[in-house]
This record gives sequence, structure tokens and C-alpha cells, in this order.
Amino acid sequence: RSKDTGKNRLTLFDESMQQEISRHSEIIEILRHAIENNEIYLVYQPQYDLALERIIGFEALMRIKNPTLGNLSPTEFIPIAEESGMINDLGSWALKEACRFNKHLQNNGFPFCTVAVNISTIQLNQKGFVTLVVDILKETGLSPQYLELEITESAIASSIRDAVSILEELQSIGIRISLDDFGTGYSSLNYLTQMPINTLKIDKAFIDKINLNKKDNYVAEAIISLAHNLEVKVVAEGVEDSNQLNLLKEKNCDLIQGYLYSKPLEPDDLIHIL
Ligand code: C2E
Ligand code: MG
Ligand code: MG
Ligand code: MG
Repeated sequence: RSKDTGKNRLTLFDESMQQEISRHSEIIEILRHAIENNEIYLVYQPQYDLALERIIGFEALMRIKNPTLGNLSPTEFIPIAEESGMINDLGSWALKEACRFNKHLQNNGFPFCTVAVNISTIQLNQKGFVTLVVDILKETGLSPQYLELEITESAIASSIRDAVSILEELQSIGIRISLDDFGTGYSSLNYLTQMPINTLKIDKAFIDKINLNKKDNYVAEAIISLAHNLEVKVVAEGVEDSNQLNLLKEKNCDLIQGYLYSKPLEPDDLIHIL
């Protein structure tokens, strides 16, 4: 009997590994198909300025719509695009599309928004990344101050000196740099003072905890003061309820982004709420 159990366990383990492997290759297939058939698009989530009481920008988020296989979440396909080397093409497409869209908004009466685009660490480290960004700005006609690049702490994990020099170069052009998912990654506190950033985004994990437990509020509060001491703007990610909003207002958080204000929107819907 114990032998049977052992054997069953082994079989189960094999099966779940097998399932993971086939899900992985399925996603690669969906990605390839999506790239070839224009099934990739961007949605835009507003960033709301609490002091100005208006939308001052929006984050571009990638989506795939596959008519037969259904929708895929970027949390599932981005890591696989990174592993398989597809992220560079996918990422430069997203960057160009987001800049094009923001320029389109500016031409149609909304001249004040910044578009934030997620940049994978692999993209940031690719040869000629700065030139690529400059070319996209030229081609789309968007001024650099209306573009923000969102990077994560992993960008600095491999080589702090390389990352800092790339980010400084981008900033010197006028592009804004935002540190995404703050608090969840590597030992960012070590590098925070050396990082050329304009914005710090408090990860949703810390926003979720607000009000459940008074002690957990302190983390969000501390990140807000930290950002202000560093003279950078702070965005709260994933704000879902008014208790969170009230605390964030009270602590002078600059911007909120979350379902409470708006979900990520299709381009026409964003234009509508602007
Ligand atoms: P992120 O950059 O941290 O984006 C924020 C995520 O939180 C988005 O998920 C957004 O839809 C979600 N979100 C915002 N407000 C709320 C809220 O109130 N409640 C909840 N439950 N979720 C909220 P999404 O669109 O699924 O993207 C997931 C991640 O995939 C992004 O996290 C980013 O790391 C990555 N990603 C998305 N698009 C791109 C892209 O174009 N390039 C790269 N490299 N990564 C991307
Ligand atoms: Mg982001
Ligand atoms: Mg984030
Ligand atoms: Mg995230």
C-alpha cells in the first residue's frame, strides 16, 4: 500500500509537471500567433492626482485577445515573453503604440497627460535601448516629458552602475523614470538613493493591507515619507476602496491608480473619461 502511494505521488508529480510544460508551450504558441495576427493591444489605466483632483497620466498595460483560446493575463505571458526572447519586439511595439496614442490625445485636445510604459529589465539592458526610445519619440512626435518608463527593482540587481547610467541618459533627455512594485523586489533600499527616479510606485500588496491592521498602515505611510524625502512623486497602486483612499489622502500620497478610480480602459473609453 505504501508502495502504491509512493507510485501515485510520483505519477501526480509527473502529471503536474507535464501540465506546466504544456501550458508553457501553449502560451508561447498564443504569443507567436498574437504577434503575427495583431491580437495584441494596449489598455490604459488612469493615474489620478489627489491635489489637482484630475487625471494627469495613464499606464499602458498589454493585453492579448485570442478568439479561440481566450484572453491571457500579462502576469502569465510577460515572463514567458522574457524567457523566450520575444519581449524586446513586443516591448518596443508597446512603447511605440503608447507614444503614438498619447500624441494622438494631444492632437485632440488633451495635451497634459503622461503615458507610463512598463519596461522589462531585459529591454532596458538590450543594446541601443536609449537610441530605440529616442527614435520612437521622433517617429511619433511625442515630447519626452510626456513619457514615463516604469522599471522594477530587478533592473538594478544585475549591475547598479549600468542601470544608473542608462536611466540617467534617459532622464537627461527629459523622459521620466518610475520605480514600479516598490517594496516587493530585491534589497532596493540599498540603491534607492543612487537611483535616478522621478516616481515611486507603492506595490498593491501594501495598499491591500491598509486598515486591516494598524501596523500594516505604517508601511505605506513610511514609503510615502521616504519618497517625499527623496523628492520624488509617489503613486499608490491598486487602490480599491475608500478607506485606503482616505488614509492615502491624509498622508499626502500624490497619485492613485486603482479600480476605485478606474480599471484599465480601452482607448475610446479613456478619451471619454478624460
Ligand atoms: P504593473 O506594472 O504593476 O501593473 C499594475 C497591475 O495592477 C495591472 O495588472 C493592473 O491592471 C492591476 N491593477 C491596477 N489597479 C488594480 C486594482 O485596484 N485591483 C487589482 N486587483 N488590480 C489592479 P495587469 O494589467 O494584469 O498587468 C500585470 C503586470 O504585467 C504589470 O504589473 C506589469 O508588470 C506587466 N505588464 C503589463 N503590460 C506590460 C508591458 O507592456 N510590458 C511589460 N514589460 N510588462 C507589462
Ligand atoms: Mg507598471
Ligand atoms: Mg506595479
Ligand atoms: Mg505588478
